[in-house]
Amino acid sequence: MDNLSNIGVIKEILSDHGFTFSKKLGQNFLINPSVCPKIAEMGNAKKGFGVIEIGPGIGVLTNELCKRADKVVAIEIDDRLIPILEKTLAEHKNVKVIHDDVMNVNLKQLIEEEFEGLDVAVCANLPYYITSPIIMMLLESRLPIKTITTMVQKEAGQRLCAPVGTRDMGAVTVAVNYFSKAKILFNVSRGSFMPAPNVDSCVIQFEVKDTPPMVNDEKYFFKVVRGMFSQRRKTILNCVSGSLGIAKDTVLKAIEQTGLKPSSRPEELSMEELIAFSENLKAFVNLE
Ligand code: SAM
Repeated sequence: MDNLSNIGVIKEILSDHGFTFSKKLGQNFLINPSVCPKIAEMGNAKKGFGVIEIGPGIGVLTNELCKRADKVVAIEIDDRLIPILEKTLAEHKNVKVIHDDVMNVNLKQLIEEEFEGLDVAVCANLPYYITSPIIMMLLESRLPIKTITTMVQKEAGQRLCAPVGTRDMGAVTVAVNYFSKAKILFNVSRGSFMPAPNVDSCVIQFEVKDTPPMVNDEKYFFKVVRGMFSQRRKTILNCVSGSLGIAKDTVLKAIEQTGLKPSSRPEELSMEELIAFSENLKAFVNLE
């Protein structure tokens, strides 16, 4: 169904189904007709690609993805949206809607079963309450995905796409840089959504690297990174020993072996230093 981003059409669909927005599920639907075609085009929705969409809402982006990609699988948690999607996507034969929480879906199996012989991309206007966990899950599970293109809150986008070693970064930035090349594609004003959120948004893209792991134990590495950034204005010595419960003299040995200063802050470290520190720490202490 076209015109899905027309505010009149959306209001009619929602009122026909007695639908009210759930704040808890991050439901801010796109009502700016120029945004979804742009996400679909820049997000690799094209011949030869299967696309996973997370949180289709009433199907405004799904519709644009179906027009361009070979196949689309859309995962929606809200049961009230499933009958709406059946209607709004009725004309497309290349779409499957899965009613589930994306965090409970076995995406590896889904890709094998649904996208045989196709390249895979993820496109979404992600619910803001769970943006970082979804992105971490998509990246850390090393799925055979080429690109992840998603709408996020502007500030989250700046943090996610910040280079390692800058003030804007957090633990999720390290994961993003480790697994992908990230960039901001374009900004989207708050007025492009219904209901309008309190902040502007942007569309970002991760080009997933297909290089082998840079550390021997990725689980250990990301535990150290999360611990380090949990109190990121503190020194690396205090952060790591405090949040991971490791004796200070052990952390100090790993810091010295890496050639770092105990007074350094986490955001001052490069990716190479973070990796070397985690490898050195692992030689002294295990983390369960
Ligand atoms: N794609 C639609 C659009 O752009 O208008 C809706 C985007 S809205 C920001 C986020 C959507 O994600 C909602 O439809 C919401 O119900 C759904 N959602 C929230 N949490 C989810 C989860 N854990 N798994 C799957 N879908 C989820």
